[in-house]
Amino acid sequence: MNPIWTRSLIAIVLLGLLCFVAGALAGVTAALVLAVVVLLAQSLSGTFHKQRLWRLLDAPAYGEVPSASGVWGEIYYRLYKLAKRWHGQVRQIEQQHARFIQAIQASPNGVVLLDQHDRIEWCNAISQTHFGLDAQRDLHQHITHLVRQPTFVRYLNAHQYDGTLVMSGMGEARYNVLSVQVFPYGERRKLVLSQDITELERTDAMRRDFVANVSHELKTPLTVLSGFLETMRELPLGEAERQRYLELMAQQAARMQHIVSDLLVLAKLEGDSRPPGEHIVDMRAVLRHLRDDAENLSGGRHRLTFASDLGLSVAGVESEILSALGNLVTNAIRYTPDGGTIHVVWHDVMGCAVFAVSDSGLGIPAADMSRLTERFYRVDRSRSRDTGGTGLGLAIVKHVLQRHDARLEIKSEEGRGSTFSVQFPVSRTVWCEASSED
Ligand code: ADP
Repeated sequence: MNPIWTRSLIAIVLLGLLCFVAGALAGVTAALVLAVVVLLAQSLSGTFHKQRLWRLLDAPAYGEVPSASGVWGEIYYRLYKLAKRWHGQVRQIEQQHARFIQAIQASPNGVVLLDQHDRIEWCNAISQTHFGLDAQRDLHQHITHLVRQPTFVRYLNAHQYDGTLVMSGMGEARYNVLSVQVFPYGERRKLVLSQDITELERTDAMRRDFVANVSHELKTPLTVLSGFLETMRELPLGEAERQRYLELMAQQAARMQHIVSDLLVLAKLEGDSRPPGEHIVDMRAVLRHLRDDAENLSGGRHRLTFASDLGLSVAGVESEILSALGNLVTNAIRYTPDGGTIHVVWHDVMGCAVFAVSDSGLGIPAADMSRLTERFYRVDRSRSRDTGGTGLGLAIVKHVLQRHDARLEIKSEEGRGSTFSVQFPVSRTVWCEASSED
């Protein structure tokens, strides 16, 4: 039997016995008075506990167990145990929920959860950056009131979510490219997933440009070459003319050779992921080489000065360093009109070896500065070609410097000249016997 029934029955039997004894000893009236008093006391105690239970259920305070004896004590204790179990379950669900939110927040993708009416229910920090949203302010707002781009609105309303939508970001991310896809779930709810693909798009565009550029760069000399060949085959040429044609053909072949050899250098640099060894570069030999090459190329058309600290060297691959620094000196000569000055410095700046080439040449427009190290990027195509450029020199410089943990800084003013400086890190800077020359 239910313990409450058992206890109630025992209490009634006990009260009956008590009244019977009282009746036998002191008469019926005394027995009745005793019964009324005990029942009244029981009823008051019941009312007191009922209102206590009422208050407890009205405003539950977890952990507080009202003390009481008998059945009420048992009820309070059981309620406490129930509350404890629920509390544990709620805490577990809360922890799981918090972990889930943390995981979505840690994702590099933007996540927006929409309700049945496409109103925002929740969004993570990345999606706020992608769409310029504010998690608090924009809660329960219709997403198309905030993300108003027609392509997005059309995509959302078309209910065809098999493919992704490529669109530009908003707010802070307005210059970024986003890939967006909607995933329906639950009861007509939606999850909007966004991914920043700016870098991917840029690399893809660069790859396409590169293939187009290589084809174009090789196509021009090839067309010229085949034109000359055609002429030589079709027309009877005098010896002098034949020699001139052969000379021009040799120039075009040399140009193609330059391009292919620069491409091979680049491919080798890109393919070699090992950091260059710790060999100390013979900078005296490198600087001598640079100076000889510069004087040869300039042919006395420029004023060249070299100031170098010969006690300073770097750890790395000599051929790569020679190629990178050589490109900078050659560029300075090629892009400085006759009579200009070129100043080369090799010195230490706060413990770092620095190589700098300053020229008084054409300079570079500010808009082109950020793209100079891209393959085949040229400010002035015809000048680059006329002076034997392949458009790959600075790309090679960039790769060599990256491999040597060095930094390239370019300062330039259009029409006034440029300074290209290379800063090697302290970790690669080496001091040999100190001596200096100018
Ligand atoms: P290129 O073979 O065309 O010289 P680079 O990669 O070496 O290719 O240089 C890229 C472009 O940067 C050049 O076409 C030129 O327009 C510009 N440039 C490089 N160095 C200088 C310089 N010292 N002064 C002016 N422009 C320069």
